[in-house]
Amino acid sequence: MSEYSSKILIIGSGPAGYTAGIYAARSGLEPLLVSGLETGGQITLSENIENFPGFVHAISGFELMNNMRAQAENLGVKIINDRIVEVDFKHRPFVCSSENHDVFYADSIIIATGASAKWLNIPSEKLYRGFGISVCATCDGFFYRGKDVAVIGGGNSAAEEALYLTRFARSVTIIHRRDQLRAEQHLQNQLALNPQIKIKYNCTVEEFIGQDNPPQLKAIKLKNVRTDKTEVLNIDGVFIAIGHQPNTSIFQNQLELDKNGYIKTKPGTTQTNINGVFAAGDVQSPEFRQAVIAAGSGAMAAMEAGRWLNQPFATHNATR
Ligand code: NDP
Repeated sequence: MSEYSSKILIIGSGPAGYTAGIYAARSGLEPLLVSGLETGGQITLSENIENFPGFVHAISGFELMNNMRAQAENLGVKIINDRIVEVDFKHRPFVCSSENHDVFYADSIIIATGASAKWLNIPSEKLYRGFGISVCATCDGFFYRGKDVAVIGGGNSAAEEALYLTRFARSVTIIHRRDQLRAEQHLQNQLALNPQIKIKYNCTVEEFIGQDNPPQLKAIKLKNVRTDKTEVLNIDGVFIAIGHQPNTSIFQNQLELDKNGYIKTKPGTTQTNINGVFAAGDVQSPEFRQAVIAAGSGAMAAMEAGRWLNQPFATHNATR
C-alpha cells in the first residue's frame, strides 16, 4: 500500500482528465491523475476522428489519447494506472482509495470518469465495434455518405441520431424492440416526415454479420419478438443508441447526482455541491458527448480548481 498527496487529484483519463492534467501542470499545481481501467476513455473505440481540431488528417481515438497522455506526462502530470474504488469527500483533505489498495489525499479533486455507452452485449458485437458498429452518429455519421445504416433504440437519442444520419446516409432504419417509440412526440413527428427513415418495431438484433479479416459489418440478423421470425438486413453501419451510463457509482453517497446519475454542477461551471470537488466532461453533461467539449470542460475544471486552491481557506497540506 502506498500513500500519495497532491494539490489536485484527477480521476479519469479521457479527454477531460488529460486536459485537466495539462492545464493544472502548466499552472504549477503538480497534479496526480489516476487513469482508470479503460485508459483513454471511450473515444479509444473510434477508428477515425476527423473533428478534433488540430489534425489535418483523421486520427484514431487510440492515437489521439496516447498523444494527450504523452503531452500530459511531458508537462509533469504524474499518471498512475489504477482505479479509484472509494472516495471520502466529507473532510479535507479528500481521500480516495484505489483497487491496488493505495490511498490518495488531495486538496481538490477533478472527476473526469466519463459515461459509458450501453452496448447490446451480443457475442458478434465486439468484432465489429469501430468497423461498422458505432455509438456516436456525430463522430462517425460522416463515413456513411450514400450508405444504408440502422439505429438501434427507441428513445430520444435514437431519434436524434437517426435524424442526424439522414444528412449523410441514403436510408436509416430504426430498429426498436417495442411497438412504440419512447422518444418525445416532436422528435417522432420529425421521423415520420423524413422519407429516408423507416422504423422496424418489435425487432431485436440477433447477430451482427460481416467479414472477419479485416473486420467489416455487412448485415444484421433481426428477430421479430412477436412472431419469432428472423430476417437478414443488409446494412453498411449500425448506430447503437440505447442509452449511456455515467461512471458515478462511487460518488453516489458523496455528491449530488441528477436523476440519471450524472454529477450535478453549478450552471456554467464544473463545481459540484462540495467545495473543492469539480466534475468535467461527460460525467457531468450528457448533452454533447464530444471529445473537444470534454477537453474544454477539463480545462475549465483545472482553472476553477486552481482558483479555488488560491483562496486562503483552501490552502493546506494534503496529508492527515
Ligand atoms: P433512453 O433510456 O431514453 O432510451 C433507450 C432506448 O433504448 C429505449 O427505447 C430502450 O427500449 C432501448 N433499449 C435499452 N436497452 C436496450 C437493449 N438491450 N436492446 C434494445 N433496445 C434497448 O436513452 P436515451 O439515450 O435515448 O436518453 C437518455 C436520457 O437523455 C433520456 O432522459 C432522454 O430523454 C434524454 N435525452 C434528451 C434529448 C433531448 O431532449 N433532445 C436527446 C437525447 C437524450 P425501451 O423503450 O423498450 O425501454
